[in-house]
Amino acid sequence: NSTATDSNELRAKLVLLGDSGVGKSCIVLRFVRGQFDPTSKVTVGASFLSQTLALEDSTIVKFEIWDTAGQERYAALAPLYYRGAAAAIVVYDITSPESFKKAQYWVKELQKHGNPGIIMVLVGNKADLHESRSVPTQEAQEYAEKNSMFFMETSAKTADNINQLFEEIAKRLPRPTA
Ligand code: GDP
Ligand code: MG
Repeated sequence: NSTATDSNELRAKLVLLGDSGVGKSCIVLRFVRGQFDPTSKVTVGASFLSQTLALEDSTIVKFEIWDTAGQERYAALAPLYYRGAAAAIVVYDITSPESFKKAQYWVKELQKHGNPGIIMVLVGNKADLHESRSVPTQEAQEYAEKNSMFFMETSAKTADNINQLFEEIAKRLPRPTA
């Protein structure tokens, strides 16, 4: 949940869900460390990183980021990570229709079992591979709208839309009522 700590400091638990190999860990590492490592290792179980972001209105958001493994054998553990999350980023790979299907599974799962009011984001990653695109932007956009999510295409490789993704989430976090 997002919790007020100091006057305009917010803490927010954030979880990434999606098929294995879509680039969840690379998105997190790009955001937190500003790097892209093409030889990054497969996530086992889940990993945790935190990063703060200063908004224009001088709000400081401290993200506590849970990056999950996409493998089936960890699916049963997912509720541990999205429980209490202020936001969930559901990632697919724009070159993989199967990963888009899997993203829809996660959206349903969150709708059934997630926090009411959880901010859900649909992210089509690997946008740099547009020549191999097989999920049309418009199809994903429409799906996101129907499910009250916001939608973005990103590239962890080129850094395209990565900071914007986290900024958009930060802007949507409920502010404490004074
Ligand atoms: P995860 O299983 O969802 O955490 O996926 P990873 O972050 O481990 O990435 C899986 C593979 O996709 C790795 O080989 C990455 O180098 C590659 N990858 C991740 N993001 C991008 C991207 O934006 N563009 C391209 N071209 N490759 C990416
Ligand atoms: Mg990973």
